[in-house]
Amino acid sequence: MTKPAYQRVLLKLSGEALMGDDQFGINRATIDRMVADVAEVAKLGVQVAVVIGGGNIFRGVAPGAQGMDRATADYMGMLATVMNALALADSMRHVGITARVMSAISIEQVVEPYVRPKALQYLEEGKVVVFAAGTGNPFFTTDTAAALRGAEISAEIVLKATKVDGVYTADPKKDPDATRYNSISFDEAIAKNLQVMDATAFALCRDQKLPIKVFSIVKPGAMKAVIMGEDEGTLVHV
Ligand code: UDP
Repeated sequence: MTKPAYQRVLLKLSGEALMGDDQFGINRATIDRMVADVAEVAKLGVQVAVVIGGGNIFRGVAPGAQGMDRATADYMGMLATVMNALALADSMRHVGITARVMSAISIEQVVEPYVRPKALQYLEEGKVVVFAAGTGNPFFTTDTAAALRGAEISAEIVLKATKVDGVYTADPKKDPDATRYNSISFDEAIAKNLQVMDATAFALCRDQKLPIKVFSIVKPGAMKAVIMGEDEGTLVHV
């Protein structure tokens, strides 16, 4: 049997990916399907850490946050990611995966705080670690948390799960001639002004030489194909 291409990965799931076709919140069937993908990969022996977003519940820059102090709104956004993390870990438990939620903001009655050596220990024990509350700081995003935690745990790659199956030359919804890049360098992506992750996250990955793979969260089997090193999605490399 061919071996997985990676031993330790950081998976970034956006909050919106949890909505499925709903307008907001958590869609049970959707989360269960995603967790099944993660389980498939974890069972190959790959160490998986997840950074979960919160956009399905609250975003610091959303219309609902208008007039609110930005930092306060961002803290609400970070708390939203904790709810998603709990739902994700619970769904994992149902399929026999032990998950540990670690939060960048202390809410110790609910989840344990993020402590790097402990996160590494859990990963080595084969547990899935779900990083909640982003970076713990307002004015950042969970993409940046993914880059940060990915670098901290020495993940070999950041897997950015999106609704689109990679990075395209143009918006595939608007331009029928748009084609997907199999791989692209950080510099080329910047020169072509292609949006892969937000600028802070992107810069951090580039500086740390941490590659990013953009792939579809809706396409069945895509996550496993990425893990097996198949030509799936777009690889952003140094
Ligand atoms: N957020 C923050 N600092 C962080 C991560 C997240 O303030 O380090 C807040 C911010 O308000 C953001 C919200 O949490 O809008 C939800 O995160 P994000 O928008 O990254 O979620 P996603 O788009 O992945 O669902």
